[in-house]
Amino acid sequence: MREMIGWRMRAGETSTQWDSGAADDSASVTFDDDVAVDPAVARSLHVVVVGAGAFGGWTALHLLRAGARVTLLDSWGPGNGRSSSGGETRAIRGVYGGDHAYVAWTAKSLGMWRDFEADSGETFFRRAGVLWMVGGDERYVRASLTHLSACGLSFEELSATEAAARFPQINFDGVEWALLEHDAGFLYAGHACRVLRDRFVAEGGNYRQHDVRVGAWTGGALSHLTLSDGTTLSADQFVFACGPWLGGMFPDVIGDLIVPTRQEVYYMGTPAGDSRFNEGNIPVWIDFGETIYYGFPATSTRGFKIADDTRGPPLDPTNADRLPSAEAVRRAQRHLEYRFPALAGAPLIEARVCQYANTPDGHFIVDRHPSADNVWLVGGGSGHGFKLGPALGDFVARRVLTGRDTHPLLSLQRFERS
Ligand SMILES: Cc1cc2nc3c(=O)[nH]c(=O)nc-3n(C[C@H](O)[C@H](O)[C@H](O)COP(=O)(O)OP(=O)(O)OC[C@H]3O[C@@H](n4cnc5c(N)ncnc54)[C@H](O)[C@@H]3O)c2cc1C
Repeated sequence: MREMIGWRMRAGETSTQWDSGAADDSASVTFDDDVAVDPAVARSLHVVVVGAGAFGGWTALHLLRAGARVTLLDSWGPGNGRSSSGGETRAIRGVYGGDHAYVAWTAKSLGMWRDFEADSGETFFRRAGVLWMVGGDERYVRASLTHLSACGLSFEELSATEAAARFPQINFDGVEWALLEHDAGFLYAGHACRVLRDRFVAEGGNYRQHDVRVGAWTGGALSHLTLSDGTTLSADQFVFACGPWLGGMFPDVIGDLIVPTRQEVYYMGTPAGDSRFNEGNIPVWIDFGETIYYGFPATSTRGFKIADDTRGPPLDPTNADRLPSAEAVRRAQRHLEYRFPALAGAPLIEARVCQYANTPDGHFIVDRHPSADNVWLVGGGSGHGFKLGPALGDFVARRVLTGRDTHPLLSLQRFERS
Protein backbone atom coordinates (compact mmCIF):
# COMPACT_ATOMS: atom_id res chain seq x y z
CA MET A 1 0.00 0.00 0.00
CA ARG A 2 1.23 3.51 -0.74
CA GLU A 3 2.90 5.54 1.96
CA MET A 4 0.68 8.52 1.28
CA ILE A 5 -2.38 6.83 2.75
CA GLY A 6 -3.86 8.90 5.51
CA TRP A 7 -2.52 12.08 3.89
CA ARG A 8 -5.06 14.70 2.86
CA MET A 9 -5.06 16.55 -0.46
CA ARG A 10 -4.27 20.21 0.12
CA ALA A 11 -4.86 23.20 -2.09
CA GLY A 12 -1.95 24.12 -4.33
CA GLU A 13 -0.75 20.56 -4.83
CA THR A 14 -0.75 18.58 -8.00
CA SER A 15 -2.53 15.27 -7.98
CA THR A 16 -1.04 12.20 -6.37
CA GLN A 17 -2.30 10.41 -9.47
CA TRP A 18 0.84 11.71 -11.20
CA ASP A 19 3.10 10.18 -8.54
CA SER A 20 2.74 6.60 -9.59
CA GLY A 21 5.74 6.44 -11.89
CA ALA A 22 7.83 4.69 -9.27
CA ALA A 23 7.23 0.96 -9.00
CA ASP A 24 4.82 0.12 -6.22
CA ASP A 25 2.45 -2.67 -5.37
CA SER A 26 -0.16 -1.44 -7.87
CA ALA A 27 2.18 -2.08 -10.80
CA SER A 28 0.73 -5.44 -11.75
CA VAL A 29 -2.77 -5.04 -10.32
CA THR A 30 -5.90 -5.31 -12.42
CA PHE A 31 -9.35 -4.64 -11.08
CA ASP A 32 -10.51 -8.20 -11.87
CA ASP A 33 -13.86 -7.00 -13.17
CA ASP A 34 -15.13 -9.98 -15.15
CA VAL A 35 -17.03 -11.70 -12.33
CA ALA A 36 -20.15 -13.33 -13.85
CA VAL A 37 -23.64 -12.12 -12.94
CA ASP A 38 -26.54 -14.57 -12.58
CA PRO A 39 -29.33 -13.04 -14.73
CA ALA A 40 -32.02 -14.54 -12.47
CA VAL A 41 -30.52 -12.76 -9.45
CA ALA A 42 -30.23 -9.52 -11.41
CA ARG A 43 -33.89 -9.72 -12.48
CA SER A 44 -35.00 -10.13 -8.87
CA LEU A 45 -33.43 -6.84 -7.74
CA HIS A 46 -34.51 -3.22 -7.75
CA VAL A 47 -31.43 -0.98 -7.60
CA VAL A 48 -31.50 2.77 -7.06
CA VAL A 49 -28.56 4.81 -8.33
CA VAL A 50 -28.20 8.35 -6.96
CA GLY A 51 -26.19 10.62 -9.25
CA ALA A 52 -26.32 10.65 -13.06
CA GLY A 53 -22.75 11.76 -13.75
CA ALA A 54 -20.20 9.58 -15.52
CA PHE A 55 -19.98 7.14 -12.61
CA GLY A 56 -23.69 6.84 -11.80
CA GLY A 57 -24.90 7.02 -15.40
CA TRP A 58 -22.67 4.17 -16.55
CA THR A 59 -23.40 2.12 -13.42
CA ALA A 60 -27.15 2.47 -14.01
CA LEU A 61 -26.88 1.43 -17.66
CA HIS A 62 -24.77 -1.65 -16.84
CA LEU A 63 -27.15 -2.69 -14.04
CA LEU A 64 -30.10 -2.35 -16.40
CA ARG A 65 -28.42 -4.30 -19.18
CA ALA A 66 -27.58 -7.07 -16.70
CA GLY A 67 -31.31 -7.44 -16.03
CA ALA A 68 -31.99 -5.44 -12.86
CA ARG A 69 -34.84 -2.99 -12.39
CA VAL A 70 -33.08 0.35 -12.03
CA THR A 71 -34.09 3.83 -10.91
CA LEU A 72 -31.62 6.66 -11.54
CA LEU A 73 -31.98 9.94 -9.64
CA ASP A 74 -30.24 13.28 -9.90
CA SER A 75 -30.83 16.67 -8.24
CA TRP A 76 -30.14 18.76 -11.32
CA GLY A 77 -29.76 16.31 -14.18
CA PRO A 78 -26.98 14.38 -15.96
CA GLY A 79 -23.83 16.44 -16.64
CA ASN A 80 -25.39 19.51 -14.97
CA GLY A 81 -23.39 22.73 -14.59
CA ARG A 82 -22.35 22.02 -10.98
CA SER A 83 -21.37 18.40 -11.50
CA SER A 84 -17.84 17.13 -12.14
CA SER A 85 -19.03 15.52 -15.37
CA GLY A 86 -20.47 18.75 -16.77
CA GLY A 87 -18.97 20.98 -19.43
CA GLU A 88 -17.59 20.30 -22.84
CA THR A 89 -14.67 17.86 -22.95
CA ARG A 90 -12.50 15.42 -20.97
CA ALA A 91 -9.25 13.77 -22.04
CA ILE A 92 -9.00 10.04 -22.50
CA ARG A 93 -5.38 8.94 -22.21
CA GLY A 94 -3.70 5.66 -21.42
CA VAL A 95 -0.60 6.98 -19.65
CA TYR A 96 -1.09 6.16 -15.96
CA GLY A 97 2.42 5.76 -14.56
CA GLY A 98 2.89 2.22 -13.29
CA ASP A 99 -0.83 1.72 -12.55
CA HIS A 100 -1.60 -1.11 -14.91
CA ALA A 101 -5.18 -1.38 -13.65
CA TYR A 102 -6.04 2.11 -14.90
CA VAL A 103 -4.35 1.59 -18.26
CA ALA A 104 -6.37 -1.61 -18.69
CA TRP A 105 -9.55 0.25 -17.70
CA THR A 106 -8.72 2.99 -20.22
CA ALA A 107 -8.39 0.42 -23.02
CA LYS A 108 -11.61 -1.29 -21.93
CA SER A 109 -13.47 2.02 -21.61
CA LEU A 110 -12.30 3.17 -25.02
CA GLY A 111 -13.97 0.11 -26.55
CA MET A 112 -17.12 0.71 -24.53
CA TRP A 113 -17.30 4.39 -25.51
CA ARG A 114 -17.07 3.35 -29.15
CA ASP A 115 -19.76 0.67 -28.72
CA PHE A 116 -21.92 3.29 -27.08
CA GLU A 117 -21.43 5.60 -30.05
CA ALA A 118 -22.62 2.78 -32.31
CA ASP A 119 -25.63 2.07 -30.02
CA SER A 120 -26.72 5.65 -29.74
CA GLY A 121 -25.73 7.06 -33.13
CA GLU A 122 -24.03 9.95 -31.30
CA THR A 123 -20.39 11.05 -31.21
CA PHE A 124 -18.57 11.21 -27.88
CA PHE A 125 -15.00 10.28 -28.68
CA ARG A 126 -12.57 12.23 -30.85
CA ARG A 127 -9.35 10.36 -31.65
CA ALA A 128 -7.27 13.54 -31.57
CA GLY A 129 -4.27 11.88 -29.89
CA VAL A 130 -2.67 13.02 -26.64
CA LEU A 131 0.79 14.61 -26.63
CA TRP A 132 2.81 14.42 -23.41
CA MET A 133 5.57 17.04 -23.29
CA VAL A 134 8.06 15.70 -20.79
CA GLY A 135 10.54 17.99 -19.07
CA GLY A 136 12.29 17.05 -15.84
CA ASP A 137 10.92 14.02 -14.03
CA GLU A 138 9.93 11.52 -16.70
CA ARG A 139 9.13 8.54 -14.46
CA TYR A 140 5.35 8.80 -14.63
CA VAL A 141 5.25 8.79 -18.43
CA ARG A 142 8.17 6.39 -18.89
CA ALA A 143 6.65 3.82 -16.50
CA SER A 144 3.51 3.66 -18.65
CA LEU A 145 5.10 2.48 -21.86
CA THR A 146 5.09 -1.25 -21.10
CA HIS A 147 1.50 -0.99 -19.85
CA LEU A 148 0.34 0.84 -22.98
CA SER A 149 1.88 -1.88 -25.14
CA ALA A 150 0.42 -4.65 -22.98
CA CYS A 151 -3.05 -3.12 -23.35
CA GLY A 152 -2.75 -2.66 -27.11
CA LEU A 153 -2.72 1.16 -27.01
CA SER A 154 -0.61 2.64 -29.77
CA PHE A 155 1.96 5.36 -29.08
CA GLU A 156 5.11 6.94 -30.44
CA GLU A 157 8.13 8.40 -28.67
CA LEU A 158 9.44 11.64 -30.16
CA SER A 159 12.63 13.52 -29.44
CA ALA A 160 12.11 17.24 -28.80
CA THR A 161 13.45 17.94 -32.30
CA GLU A 162 11.07 15.45 -33.92
CA ALA A 163 8.16 16.82 -31.92
CA ALA A 164 8.99 20.39 -32.98
CA ALA A 165 9.07 19.32 -36.63
CA ARG A 166 5.70 17.55 -36.24
CA PHE A 167 4.02 20.39 -34.32
CA PRO A 168 5.68 23.66 -35.34
CA GLN A 169 2.94 25.65 -33.61
CA ILE A 170 4.32 24.45 -30.24
CA ASN A 171 7.47 25.78 -28.58
CA PHE A 172 9.27 22.74 -27.13
CA ASP A 173 11.77 24.70 -24.97
CA GLY A 174 12.42 22.77 -21.76
CA VAL A 175 10.84 19.61 -23.19
CA GLU A 176 13.25 16.67 -23.25
CA TRP A 177 11.06 14.26 -25.17
CA ALA A 178 7.43 13.72 -26.04
CA LEU A 179 5.03 10.83 -26.15
CA LEU A 180 2.18 10.84 -28.64
CA GLU A 181 -0.67 8.49 -27.72
CA HIS A 182 -2.41 7.72 -31.02
CA ASP A 183 -5.49 5.93 -29.65
CA ALA A 184 -6.24 8.66 -27.14
CA GLY A 185 -8.09 11.96 -27.50
CA PHE A 186 -11.11 13.56 -25.90
CA LEU A 187 -14.72 12.85 -25.00
CA TYR A 188 -17.73 15.15 -25.11
CA ALA A 189 -18.55 15.02 -21.41
CA GLY A 190 -21.89 16.64 -20.56
CA HIS A 191 -23.35 15.50 -23.86
CA ALA A 192 -22.35 11.88 -23.13
CA CYS A 193 -24.04 12.00 -19.71
CA ARG A 194 -27.29 13.22 -21.21
CA VAL A 195 -27.23 10.58 -23.96
CA LEU A 196 -26.45 7.92 -21.33
CA ARG A 197 -29.60 8.95 -19.44
CA ASP A 198 -31.61 8.91 -22.68
CA ARG A 199 -30.37 5.40 -23.60
CA PHE A 200 -31.03 4.23 -20.05
CA VAL A 201 -34.64 5.42 -20.32
CA ALA A 202 -35.06 4.06 -23.87
CA GLU A 203 -33.91 0.63 -22.66
CA GLY A 204 -36.42 0.56 -19.79
CA GLY A 205 -34.72 2.40 -16.93
CA ASN A 206 -36.59 4.85 -14.73
CA TYR A 207 -34.98 8.31 -14.45
CA ARG A 208 -36.30 10.94 -12.04
CA GLN A 209 -34.99 14.39 -11.20
CA HIS A 210 -35.02 14.66 -7.42
CA ASP A 211 -32.73 15.68 -4.64
CA VAL A 212 -32.24 12.68 -2.38
CA ARG A 213 -31.77 12.29 1.34
CA VAL A 214 -30.78 9.05 3.01
CA GLY A 215 -33.83 7.59 4.80
CA ALA A 216 -34.04 4.95 7.52
CA TRP A 217 -31.47 2.29 8.36
CA THR A 218 -32.88 -0.99 9.64
CA GLY A 219 -30.94 -4.10 10.62
CA GLY A 220 -27.69 -3.28 8.84
CA ALA A 221 -29.42 -2.11 5.66
CA LEU A 222 -30.84 1.07 4.17
CA SER A 223 -34.57 0.69 3.70
CA HIS A 224 -35.47 3.80 1.71
CA LEU A 225 -34.56 7.25 0.45
CA THR A 226 -36.49 10.47 0.92
CA LEU A 227 -36.99 12.45 -2.27
CA SER A 228 -37.36 16.20 -2.67
CA ASP A 229 -41.10 15.88 -3.38
CA GLY A 230 -41.55 14.35 0.09
CA THR A 231 -42.08 10.78 -1.13
CA THR A 232 -39.90 7.83 -0.20
CA LEU A 233 -38.31 5.25 -2.43
CA SER A 234 -37.41 1.70 -1.36
CA ALA A 235 -35.05 -0.67 -3.14
CA ASP A 236 -32.97 -3.78 -2.58
CA GLN A 237 -29.66 -2.09 -3.30
CA PHE A 238 -28.56 1.55 -3.39
CA VAL A 239 -25.59 3.06 -5.20
CA PHE A 240 -24.55 6.58 -4.25
CA ALA A 241 -22.46 8.10 -7.05
CA CYS A 242 -22.72 11.68 -5.85
CA GLY A 243 -19.33 12.97 -7.00
CA PRO A 244 -18.16 15.95 -4.92
CA TRP A 245 -21.30 15.71 -2.75
CA LEU A 246 -20.50 12.22 -1.46
CA GLY A 247 -18.54 13.43 1.59
CA GLY A 248 -21.39 15.70 2.71
CA MET A 249 -23.94 12.94 2.19
CA PHE A 250 -21.96 10.46 4.30
CA PRO A 251 -19.96 12.66 6.68
CA ASP A 252 -19.03 9.83 9.05
CA VAL A 253 -17.90 7.32 6.46
CA ILE A 254 -16.58 9.53 3.62
CA GLY A 255 -16.33 13.09 5.03
CA ASP A 256 -13.04 14.64 3.95
CA LEU A 257 -11.83 11.48 2.24
CA ILE A 258 -13.26 13.38 -0.72
CA VAL A 259 -12.21 17.03 -0.96
CA PRO A 260 -13.78 19.03 -3.81
CA THR A 261 -11.28 21.59 -5.13
CA ARG A 262 -11.91 24.53 -7.41
CA GLN A 263 -10.57 24.01 -10.94
CA GLU A 264 -10.74 26.65 -13.63
CA VAL A 265 -10.86 25.87 -17.34
CA TYR A 266 -10.41 28.50 -20.06
CA TYR A 267 -11.26 28.62 -23.74
CA MET A 268 -9.00 31.01 -25.62
CA GLY A 269 -9.76 32.61 -28.96
CA THR A 270 -7.45 31.61 -31.82
CA PRO A 271 -6.57 34.13 -34.56
CA ALA A 272 -9.20 34.41 -37.30
CA GLY A 273 -8.48 32.09 -40.20
CA ASP A 274 -5.65 30.29 -38.34
CA SER A 275 -6.50 26.58 -38.17
CA ARG A 276 -3.22 25.39 -36.57
CA PHE A 277 -4.88 25.09 -33.18
CA ASN A 278 -7.99 23.29 -34.38
CA GLU A 279 -8.90 19.66 -33.93
CA GLY A 280 -7.09 17.66 -36.59
CA ASN A 281 -4.00 19.87 -36.50
CA ILE A 282 -3.01 19.61 -32.86
CA PRO A 283 -3.68 16.87 -30.30
CA VAL A 284 -4.80 17.12 -26.69
CA TRP A 285 -1.59 18.17 -24.92
CA ILE A 286 -0.22 17.72 -21.43
CA ASP A 287 2.71 19.95 -20.51
CA PHE A 288 4.21 17.66 -17.92
CA GLY A 289 6.55 20.03 -16.14
CA GLU A 290 6.63 21.23 -12.55
CA THR A 291 3.23 22.86 -12.97
CA ILE A 292 1.04 20.67 -15.16
CA TYR A 293 -0.93 22.61 -17.74
CA TYR A 294 -3.05 20.69 -20.21
CA GLY A 295 -5.38 21.59 -23.03
CA PHE A 296 -7.45 20.63 -26.01
CA PRO A 297 -7.64 21.70 -29.64
CA ALA A 298 -10.26 24.24 -30.61
CA THR A 299 -13.47 22.59 -31.85
CA SER A 300 -16.34 23.95 -33.91
CA THR A 301 -18.09 24.98 -30.67
CA ARG A 302 -15.27 26.08 -28.35
CA GLY A 303 -11.93 27.87 -28.33
CA PHE A 304 -8.50 26.44 -27.53
CA LYS A 305 -8.81 24.96 -24.05
CA ILE A 306 -6.19 25.36 -21.33
CA ALA A 307 -6.27 24.44 -17.63
CA ASP A 308 -3.87 24.14 -14.71
CA ASP A 309 -4.02 20.74 -12.97
CA THR A 310 -2.84 22.18 -9.62
CA ARG A 311 -5.51 21.65 -6.96
CA GLY A 312 -7.34 24.88 -6.17
CA PRO A 313 -8.87 25.76 -2.82
CA PRO A 314 -11.68 23.59 -1.40
CA LEU A 315 -15.08 24.42 -2.85
CA ASP A 316 -18.71 23.85 -1.86
CA PRO A 317 -20.15 22.23 -4.99
CA THR A 318 -23.68 23.52 -4.32
CA ASN A 319 -23.12 27.14 -3.35
CA ALA A 320 -19.71 28.17 -4.71
CA ASP A 321 -19.68 31.02 -7.18
CA ARG A 322 -18.15 29.99 -10.47
CA LEU A 323 -16.45 33.13 -11.67
CA PRO A 324 -12.89 32.62 -12.98
CA SER A 325 -10.16 34.56 -11.18
CA ALA A 326 -8.37 37.26 -13.16
CA GLU A 327 -4.92 36.32 -11.81
CA ALA A 328 -5.29 32.63 -12.79
CA VAL A 329 -6.48 33.64 -16.28
CA ARG A 330 -3.38 35.81 -16.68
CA ARG A 331 -1.14 32.92 -15.56
CA ALA A 332 -2.75 30.63 -18.13
CA GLN A 333 -2.35 33.30 -20.82
CA ARG A 334 1.35 33.62 -19.95
CA HIS A 335 1.78 29.87 -20.27
CA LEU A 336 -0.10 29.89 -23.56
CA GLU A 337 2.14 32.63 -24.91
CA TYR A 338 5.26 30.65 -23.90
CA ARG A 339 4.18 27.24 -25.22
CA PHE A 340 2.12 28.40 -28.22
CA PRO A 341 3.73 31.68 -29.32
CA ALA A 342 1.18 32.40 -32.04
CA LEU A 343 -1.47 32.56 -29.31
CA ALA A 344 0.22 35.47 -27.53
CA GLY A 345 -2.52 37.89 -26.54
CA ALA A 346 -5.28 35.36 -27.25
CA PRO A 347 -8.46 36.56 -25.54
CA LEU A 348 -10.41 34.53 -23.01
CA ILE A 349 -13.66 33.77 -24.81
CA GLU A 350 -15.27 31.36 -22.30
CA ALA A 351 -14.45 29.88 -18.92
CA ARG A 352 -15.78 27.23 -16.60
CA VAL A 353 -15.20 26.60 -12.91
CA CYS A 354 -15.55 22.94 -12.02
CA GLN A 355 -14.28 20.80 -9.14
CA TYR A 356 -12.13 17.74 -8.75
CA ALA A 357 -13.42 15.29 -6.12
CA ASN A 358 -10.06 14.32 -4.62
CA THR A 359 -9.28 11.30 -2.49
CA PRO A 360 -6.07 11.29 -0.43
CA ASP A 361 -4.26 8.96 -2.84
CA GLY A 362 -5.98 9.82 -6.13
CA HIS A 363 -7.61 6.41 -6.42
CA PHE A 364 -11.39 6.15 -6.65
CA ILE A 365 -13.65 4.95 -3.86
CA VAL A 366 -15.90 1.98 -4.66
CA ASP A 367 -17.01 0.18 -1.54
CA ARG A 368 -19.92 -0.93 0.57
CA HIS A 369 -21.07 1.30 3.39
CA PRO A 370 -19.50 -0.32 6.47
CA SER A 371 -22.87 -0.35 8.31
CA ALA A 372 -25.16 -1.31 5.44
CA ASP A 373 -24.58 -4.23 3.10
CA ASN A 374 -27.01 -2.88 0.51
CA VAL A 375 -25.34 0.53 0.09
CA TRP A 376 -22.43 1.14 -2.29
CA LEU A 377 -20.44 4.37 -2.22
CA VAL A 378 -18.86 5.32 -5.53
CA GLY A 379 -16.81 8.46 -6.13
CA GLY A 380 -13.51 10.25 -5.70
CA GLY A 381 -12.92 10.79 -9.43
CA SER A 382 -9.86 12.87 -8.42
CA GLY A 383 -9.61 14.69 -11.73
CA HIS A 384 -9.27 11.59 -13.90
CA GLY A 385 -12.47 9.57 -13.65
CA PHE A 386 -14.59 10.58 -16.62
CA LYS A 387 -12.93 8.46 -19.29
CA LEU A 388 -13.17 5.39 -17.05
CA GLY A 389 -16.92 5.67 -16.43
CA PRO A 390 -17.75 2.69 -18.70
CA ALA A 391 -15.32 0.23 -17.03
CA LEU A 392 -15.96 1.57 -13.55
CA GLY A 393 -19.75 1.32 -14.02
CA ASP A 394 -19.37 -2.28 -15.15
CA PHE A 395 -17.19 -3.04 -12.12
CA VAL A 396 -19.75 -1.49 -9.73
CA ALA A 397 -22.72 -3.23 -11.36
CA ARG A 398 -21.02 -6.62 -11.04
CA ARG A 399 -20.28 -6.02 -7.34
CA VAL A 400 -23.83 -4.90 -6.61
CA LEU A 401 -25.36 -7.87 -8.41
CA THR A 402 -23.00 -10.55 -7.09
CA GLY A 403 -22.21 -9.27 -3.61
CA ARG A 404 -18.53 -9.65 -4.33
CA ASP A 405 -16.14 -7.38 -2.41
CA THR A 406 -14.45 -4.43 -4.03
CA HIS A 407 -10.79 -4.28 -4.99
CA PRO A 408 -8.39 -3.27 -2.16
CA LEU A 409 -7.09 -0.30 -4.17
CA LEU A 410 -10.62 1.14 -4.30
CA SER A 411 -11.67 0.19 -0.78
CA LEU A 412 -12.40 2.40 2.21
CA GLN A 413 -10.19 0.18 4.31
CA ARG A 414 -7.08 1.52 2.58
CA PHE A 415 -7.50 4.80 4.46
CA GLU A 416 -7.40 3.18 7.89
CA ARG A 417 -4.15 3.80 9.70
CA SER A 418 -2.47 0.66 10.95
C1 LIG B 1 -11.86 20.65 -14.68
C2 LIG B 1 -11.92 19.14 -14.70
C3 LIG B 1 -11.16 18.46 -15.62
C4 LIG B 1 -11.19 17.06 -15.67
N1 LIG B 1 -10.49 16.43 -16.62
C5 LIG B 1 -10.64 15.11 -16.79
C6 LIG B 1 -10.08 14.48 -17.91
O1 LIG B 1 -9.45 15.12 -18.73
N2 LIG B 1 -10.27 13.15 -18.04
C7 LIG B 1 -10.99 12.42 -17.16
O2 LIG B 1 -11.13 11.21 -17.35
N3 LIG B 1 -11.55 13.01 -16.08
C8 LIG B 1 -11.40 14.33 -15.88
N4 LIG B 1 -11.98 14.96 -14.83
C9 LIG B 1 -12.64 14.17 -13.78
C10 LIG B 1 -14.00 13.69 -14.18
O3 LIG B 1 -14.71 14.71 -14.82
C11 LIG B 1 -14.72 13.18 -12.93
O4 LIG B 1 -13.89 12.23 -12.27
C12 LIG B 1 -16.03 12.51 -13.26
O5 LIG B 1 -16.80 13.32 -14.13
C13 LIG B 1 -16.77 12.27 -11.96
O6 LIG B 1 -18.07 11.85 -12.21
P1 LIG B 1 -19.04 11.51 -10.99
O7 LIG B 1 -20.19 10.79 -11.61
O8 LIG B 1 -18.32 10.85 -9.88
O9 LIG B 1 -19.49 12.91 -10.38
P2 LIG B 1 -20.52 14.01 -10.93
O10 LIG B 1 -20.40 14.19 -12.37
O11 LIG B 1 -20.33 15.22 -10.07
O12 LIG B 1 -21.93 13.39 -10.66
C14 LIG B 1 -22.53 13.36 -9.40
C15 LIG B 1 -24.01 13.60 -9.60
O13 LIG B 1 -24.66 13.37 -8.36
C16 LIG B 1 -25.75 14.27 -8.27
N5 LIG B 1 -26.09 14.40 -6.87
C17 LIG B 1 -25.29 14.80 -5.86
N6 LIG B 1 -25.95 14.80 -4.68
C18 LIG B 1 -27.21 14.36 -4.96
C19 LIG B 1 -28.37 14.16 -4.18
N7 LIG B 1 -28.39 14.38 -2.85
N8 LIG B 1 -29.50 13.72 -4.78
C20 LIG B 1 -29.51 13.46 -6.13
N9 LIG B 1 -28.44 13.66 -6.92
C21 LIG B 1 -27.31 14.11 -6.34
C22 LIG B 1 -25.21 15.56 -8.89
O14 LIG B 1 -26.22 16.40 -9.36
C23 LIG B 1 -24.33 15.03 -10.01
O15 LIG B 1 -24.98 15.03 -11.26
C24 LIG B 1 -11.98 16.35 -14.75
C25 LIG B 1 -12.75 17.04 -13.81
C26 LIG B 1 -12.74 18.41 -13.81
C27 LIG B 1 -13.60 19.14 -12.81
